[in-house]
Parts: sequence; structure tokens; C-alpha cells
Amino acid sequence: MSNLPFTLPTCEQPATTRVELFSTDPAGAGDSLDACVYTCEQHDSDAVTAAWSADMNAYRVVMAPGVERACGESYVFPTGNLGGAK
Ligand SMILES: [Zn+2]
Repeated sequence: MSNLPFTLPTCEQPATTRVELFSTDPAGAGDSLDACVYTCEQHDSDAVTAAWSADMNAYRVVMAPGVERACGESYVFPTGNLGGAK
């Protein structure tokens, strides 16, 4: 179900970090916010490393209050490169 170009850890623990994933544009037109993934403390660096290996930039952000996700869940933005907008 995931359109991500890499595999995420899926341990199903409550996520503590949201990782924003940006694909880079070689033409320099700016990076595209393509997806976010949710990870627990144990797996956030795994998710970032996996993103780097797929030539994406990854930035950790805190979870919004009241948002509950499991480690390994992801969301692909329809407006980003992975969502097929371009
Ligand atoms: Zn985890």
C-alpha cells in the first residue's frame, strides 16, 4: 500500500516522531514534500537512513498533539512527486 521508494520498519509501537520526506530536484527548482512517515524512538534513525538511501531528505518533527499513529505508518502527499503530481 505504500508508494515509498524504501522499506520502513513496522514494529507497530506508538509513534513518537513524524519524519517529513522531501525529494530533491536536480534542476534546483526546490525540494518537494512528498510524504511523512511515523516512527517510534527506536526506529526513527532507521527511517531517516532508509530515506537517505533513496536520495530523499528527511527531517524529524514532533508529533502533533492528539495524533496517534503506529510506527511504520506513512502518508504520501498527492501534491508531491511521489503522489504523481508532477
Ligand atoms: Zn518502531
